[in-house]
Amino acid sequence: MNALIACYVFILGLVLGSFYNVVALRVPAKQSIVKPPSACPSCGTQLKTRDLVPVFSYLFSRGKCRHCQSKVSILYPIGELATGLLFLWVYVTYSISSETIVGLTLVSLLVIITISDLKYMRIPNQVLLFFLPIVILLRLFVPGNQAWWSYALGAVVGCGIIVLIALVTRGGMGMGDAKLLFVCGIVLGWSHILIAFVLACLLGSLLGGVLLLSGIIKRKQPIPFGPYLAAGVLIAYGYGSDLIQVYLNLLG
Ligand SMILES: [Zn+2]
Repeated sequence: MNALIACYVFILGLVLGSFYNVVALRVPAKQSIVKPPSACPSCGTQLKTRDLVPVFSYLFSRGKCRHCQSKVSILYPIGELATGLLFLWVYVTYSISSETIVGLTLVSLLVIITISDLKYMRIPNQVLLFFLPIVILLRLFVPGNQAWWSYALGAVVGCGIIVLIALVTRGGMGMGDAKLLFVCGIVLGWSHILIAFVLACLLGSLLGGVLLLSGIIKRKQPIPFGPYLAAGVLIAYGYGSDLIQVYLNLLG
């Protein structure tokens, strides 16, 4: 690992994260991602360059618009910082290799759908359709360490398990979640996408329980499952093989 490259990758993540915020918040609202330029949603003042520095602008303005003092959503700096840190994680894990591109692509997809799902409770089709051909091409040229059919099966298994549960439970999980795991299954392969799903359910019950007990959410209040799936997918992508090994060791 090279410290200079690590810095660069982190900053690249911050900057792209800023763009992913725009994509995640505008695409589901059927707005263009290039125009109009970013503006304060309360007073409409167009943001200047110094308002667009990832994370720092938010910190320096103490999370408020400089003109009308209305609060800026904490999702912006969180989305930027998360992208920066996850980009760094991909670089630390895969160094500079072809798999690094796969990892950065996966992080990009997951950051966008997480912000969309948190904000609008939906995973935009356009974003999934944009990433689908990219991940197929990437897996064709960057085969990973599983057989090709494992990745093809991953799409079917990922999508199938959500559809199955949606049918059985009638709700809770939506078709957006199914389509998301279809795309992620191509990147992870069938065994790892299953692990991702199990991890998402575990995280969902744990965090859901904490949020419920602390009164942040109410019983029966719908909560987006996309962020949990995103976390599960990333953990399975990075550590799935280790988890399988631990599990097999436990079985003896
Ligand atoms: Zn304003």
